[in-house]
Amino acid sequence: MLFDPRPKTRREDLFGRDKELDLLHNNVDSPIIVVTGIRRIGKTSVLNVFLNEVSIPSVVLDLRELKTNFGFRDLYNVIAKGFSSRLDKFIDLLKSISAVKIVGAEVEFRWRGRNAINLSTLFDYMNRRRIIIAFDEAQRLRGPRSQEILNAIAHAYDYDKNITFIFTGSEAGLLYSFLGLENPQSPLYGRYMYMLTLERFPRDLSIEFLKKGFREAGVNISIDVVESAVDAFDGIPGWLTFFGNEYVRGLRDLDKTKRMAIEVALEELRNIARERGKRYALALKGMAEGADSWGKLKRYIEEKEGGVVSTSILYNIVKNLEDLSIIKDYRFLDPVYREAAKM
Ligand code: ADP
Repeated sequence: MLFDPRPKTRREDLFGRDKELDLLHNNVDSPIIVVTGIRRIGKTSVLNVFLNEVSIPSVVLDLRELKTNFGFRDLYNVIAKGFSSRLDKFIDLLKSISAVKIVGAEVEFRWRGRNAINLSTLFDYMNRRRIIIAFDEAQRLRGPRSQEILNAIAHAYDYDKNITFIFTGSEAGLLYSFLGLENPQSPLYGRYMYMLTLERFPRDLSIEFLKKGFREAGVNISIDVVESAVDAFDGIPGWLTFFGNEYVRGLRDLDKTKRMAIEVALEELRNIARERGKRYALALKGMAEGADSWGKLKRYIEEKEGGVVSTSILYNIVKNLEDLSIIKDYRFLDPVYREAAKM
């Protein structure tokens, strides 16, 4: 179903991404594939569909839950969870590793102490067979463990030719800086990676998506409502799906659906302000209200705060919001976040 709110797993439920899937199939032998795009653009869905279609066994490591200051215990828990869900595919391989324990349907890694396994060695084991290891929301790997993780990936890049790594990330700037593509100090600097960016649907395709979804659900809807929904949610498939699903389930009030979406976005913006400070909220509000240049944003913040804001502080705020893929050139990448920032 096109309007199923969960990430899609089959091509027939995934609208308008045939070209992107072809590109992934054509580049499956790259040692590293990087898939970026803003939140709700469909990265997890494209990844799932691709991994279901390709004949190479794969494991997806979902890093969403990883906390900022994660340790190796947390990382190995994520890896264990990923492998537990693919036990059928990897049981023989896992059984051959002495640092792995299989309890019922759960995989456990001995990650410290005697006979522990480090990441590079784990990758060497995995390399015994062709495998795809996907890290979903990989910018979360940033942190005190970055260097060791990157070293292990660089090691696998050089020696483990059977492994293809896929990194997806909503916060493209953070993901690129983790991978260190432009940083000569990074172990991965200068390595080839296949890069795929998922873009929003153009307007006509967004309309087509909604029409097809409503047809599939057997629900009649006027073209005016469809167009208003696309005005509100732009070509971001996650929001269009959200709207479609709510409408099909009986919520016929577009303003209400918009408010619900704004609430979701607001929660994320509040988290940013909580983690980074109130000035972020103010800067976002300024940009949402039209401060679309350095000078305008500086004046906006100074007027509201009644004091001078230093160039370096403002530079950092703008740069960090860009790295988080919230804004680009003082404009919001997602109209729902723009509305949320005004609140
Ligand atoms: P991301 O990983 O980029 O945040 P998801 O894959 O989780 O995005 O998708 C967000 C929502 O949008 C999910 O409900 C998913 O089912 C839907 N979705 C995304 N892309 C498409 C698409 N091309 N066709 C149909 N539904 C999609």
